[in-house]
Formats: sequence, structure tokens, C-alpha cells
Amino acid sequence: MKKFGRYGGQFAPEVLMPALEELAGAYEQHKNDAKFVAELRHYLEDFGGRPTPLYHAKRLSKHLNKKVYLKREDLVHGGAHKLNNTIGQALLAKYMGKERIIAETGAGQHGTATAMAGAVLGLKTVVYMGTKDMERQKMNVFRMKLLGAEVIPVSSGSQTLKDAINEALRDWVANVGDTYYLIGSIVGPHPYPTIVRDFQTVIGQETREQILGKEGRLPDSIVACAGGGSNAMGIFYPFLNDDVDLFAVEAGGEGLKKTEKVAYHSASLCAGEEGVLHGARTKILQNEYGQILESHSIAPGLDYSGVGPELARLVDTGRVKARNISDEDALDAFHVLSRLEGIVPALESAHAIAYTQKDDVGDLVVINLSGRGDKDVETVAGLK
Ligand SMILES: *Cc1c(COP(=O)(O)O)cnc(C)c1O
Repeated sequence: MKKFGRYGGQFAPEVLMPALEELAGAYEQHKNDAKFVAELRHYLEDFGGRPTPLYHAKRLSKHLNKKVYLKREDLVHGGAHKLNNTIGQALLAKYMGKERIIAETGAGQHGTATAMAGAVLGLKTVVYMGTKDMERQKMNVFRMKLLGAEVIPVSSGSQTLKDAINEALRDWVANVGDTYYLIGSIVGPHPYPTIVRDFQTVIGQETREQILGKEGRLPDSIVACAGGGSNAMGIFYPFLNDDVDLFAVEAGGEGLKKTEKVAYHSASLCAGEEGVLHGARTKILQNEYGQILESHSIAPGLDYSGVGPELARLVDTGRVKARNISDEDALDAFHVLSRLEGIVPALESAHAIAYTQKDDVGDLVVINLSGRGDKDVETVAGLK
């Protein structure tokens, strides 16, 4: 399926259309192939640490007065769900005979997960990153280099993710024969949103089995944070046809204020409008001229001006409820989980934790703990 209702599609330069066709064909060919499936499983389990636990957080449950389970994606190798996707796509690249994977990264989390997958599968890895982001995320730049990736600084434009994406696309156009472009969330032109969603669906499949084992029933609600939307889509997908409330929580606050150039939040599902971004029609943060607004969030992984087209569609149909949480409330939740459960959550995941206390979230809840917060400790310490 190339489109999700009015969203999705392939808004890509003509020269890339054959590459997108090749990718779609290869994915169809390999996704159910026994050898590919077995090899992917091997890496997810023995390298990545899957399955991740579904943990009954007793002290948080008492605090929130509902029964709360945490899906522990923070325990995946690398500290977040991102590896589920990068291992899947890097393996696909290998099956397609590509020798080189390229990616772009903002905060460096996707770049690091790509570098890990590239290293373990023996693929040359190149990561594009804005120079401003490199300055802010020195640690991740160093980690990517340690893992054998080449990090290419992008000093054009705003020197951030936007410009890194442009450079990565330029590279892909020039080297499409031996190069695989590895996208980090359920965004981009078809078939990327579907491929990334499929690779992240392991989260929801495990959750379903685990909650049935522990509770003998499905949860009332599932809560996940949404930047591009991949951890949310991954846990939601196996529950779409069930009587389970699904909440996608974005970075919000400040009354979702927008000006000519800046959105003081990163809530594309809650406050975005239809437009085209990074190869797909979806909900985006834009001004009246259709220019993309710079977005803000304390959580680097949520700081994106668009959202995956499939998630945008599910919000329009009402199946998924879009909500938002301010930086302040996410920070509170960051501290609450750290103290009550001995788990320092990623600031992204803290948005989901913060929303769980709201009345519309049911009594038996699964929160997708998309990542661990070690990467955010410095940020939080700097605020005090
Ligand atoms: C990247 C990231 C996110 C946001 O990405 P999605 O595609 O929306 O899942 C959320 N949490 C963590 C820990 C991340 O690293």
C-alpha cells in the first residue's frame, strides 16, 4: 500500500523512483523468506537482547492509582527501540547486495543505532549530521566514530537535521547502485513507513503475548511517545483491531504556540496541517506559506516537524488519540520514574509516563518505555 488514506505516497525526485521500486520489491521478496526471518531473529535476540521484559511497575502503579506495565525497550542494545529498525534495514541492505549504508541523524541516536547495525553486519556506514547538532551531541559523534562509522558534517542551511537529510539524499542519488538509505522512523516516501513499522512491530507482538500471559486479558490503554512515530506504531500495530485505547503523546505545552518561523512545541499530530515533508504527505508544522517551522522539545527524539503518514491517518480516523505533554511535565515524570522504579527514562519516553496519569487512560496500562535516559542526564543536570 503506497498510501494511508490521503497521506503517504512518494514525493521523491525522479532519479530515485527506480531505487524506491527496487527497495519495495526486495522487501516483499525477503520479508517472509525463512532465511531472512531467522537471521533477523538471531540478531534481535542474541545481539539486541530481545525479547524485552514487560515489567509491572508496582511503585509507579501505586503512585498513579492504576496498574502500569512498562515495555522495556530501554533494555535493547544501544538503549532504545531504534536498533529493531536499523538491524532490520541493514540486514535487508545486505540481502539486496548493497555494501554501504547511509543515514542522517539529528541528536545522534539514529546515527548510533545505524552505526551499530552497520558494524555487526560488516557494512560501510556513513552518517550525515548538521554541524550545530554535532556540537550539541559530541558524545554521540564520538560513539558513532568508535563504531566505525564515518560522520560527515553538514554546514549548509540551519546546520541541523533538515540539512543533513538533504545531504544524505544527494549522496543516495549519486551512489544509488551500491548504497542503501536507512531511514530512522516511519517517515519518508513509500515503502519506508511500512518497512520501519514492520520492523518495530516486534514490540507490540511481544507485548500482546506478555500481557495475556500476565493478566489473561488485553490492556485498557497503551501509551507511547511520538516523534516520527515508530515506537508508537510498533507497539500499537498488533492492537489496531482490539478494544484497546491507543495514545500517541507528543511534545507540547505553551498552548501549542506557533509563530511565522517557530513552533514552540513539536506536536505535528495535535497541531500540524496537511503538507508534504521528506517524501510523504502527512501532518506537518508549517506556516501559511507552507514553510516548515522549526520545532522545540526538551526531548531530542521528539523534535521533528512531521510525523509518519500512517500514524497521521490513524489519528484522523480516531483510532489513535493524539495528546501532548509540556517539557515541564515530562521532566517531572523523568524524576518520578527514576525515584520510584530505579529506571531513568529517556526524556522522550517521559512524555508517555507523564500522560498516563490523565483520566482518559484506563486502569490497566502499558507504557512503551522507548529508551533509557543516560543520554539525557547532562541536559537535565544543566537545568537545575
Ligand atoms: C528516537 C526516539 C524516539 C522518537 O522516535 P519515534 O520514531 O517516534 O519512536 C522516542 N524515544 C526514544 C528513546 C528515541 O530514541
